[in-house]
This record gives sequence, structure tokens and C-alpha cells, in this order.
Amino acid sequence: MACYFDEHDCEPLGEGQQPNHLLHLARLLIDSGVAAQDTEMDFESLFPGADGKPPPASKNVVENLPVIRITEGQVARNVKCPVCLGEYREGERAKELPCKHNFHPKCILPWLKKTNSCPLCRHELPTDDEQYEEFKKQKARAKQREQDIETLHSSMYG
Ligand SMILES: [Zn+2]
Ligand SMILES: [Zn+2]
Repeated sequence: MACYFDEHDCEPLGEGQQPNHLLHLARLLIDSGVAAQDTEMDFESLFPGADGKPPPASKNVVENLPVIRITEGQVARNVKCPVCLGEYREGERAKELPCKHNFHPKCILPWLKKTNSCPLCRHELPTDDEQYEEFKKQKARAKQREQDIETLHSSMYG
């Protein structure tokens, strides 16, 4: 088993190229046309409405995502689109998310129509869903309150 890579005449994964199970899932989901669905009872699944799924990214935000041109350097480093694993060609256009991850427009646009986060790191984009945005604000406030209580608690008993 140690000579798997020799047998298959290919390189082991290099730096920054770890297998990413979330992405693998993302690709499967895109293929089957199903949006991401967490099985755990997490924040998203508590969101009332939309079957517990986060809403799509804001149309306006998606339309205004910066488009970058793939450089010679990126091609030399075999930079790939994380969704389809296709290597970029020099001069090709890619959409860049606020988290600085970039993707083929044809790969990321259908994804962002289903959900509002980067398939690579789950960075959330704003949505057009007022209810969801309000829910996010409330969640942030609840977290802040928790922290305040903790701070208060440790200042009293710490
Ligand atoms: Zn792609
Ligand atoms: Zn990202």
C-alpha cells in the first residue's frame, strides 16, 4: 500500500491540496441538483422556513462578485477550480468570492443560487432574504449576550 503512488504513477497531494470532503459533497450535490443539507441540528436547521436551508446568496452580490483573470503563475502552480477540479487556463475568467476563493463562473453560480456560502470555507455571503438576515442578526446578538454574561460572570467570580 505504501507504493500506491508509484504504482499509479502520480504525485501525492501537494501543499494546500488536501482532499476536501465538504467539496466532494458539494460536487455530488451539484451533480444531483440537491442543495446542502446538514444533518446536525445546527443554526441553519433552526432557521424557520426554507426547510432549514440557508437562502441563496443575494443576486446583487453575486452579480457584483469580482471577476479575475487567471495568471500564468496560477497556471504554473496548477491552480484548479475547487468545484470541478478542472485546471484553469491562462487568461480564463474566474469569479472571486469575498473569502478570496475563486471558481469557474459556471461552477459557482449554480451553487450560489442554492445556498449562500463558499463551498470551500463556508464564508457566508449576504442574502436577499430579510427573514434570514434578521435571524442572523439575532443569532449574533444572542452570542454577544452569552459573551457578556461570561465576562460578567468571570469578573464577579474570577
Ligand atoms: Zn469549475
Ligand atoms: Zn471560501
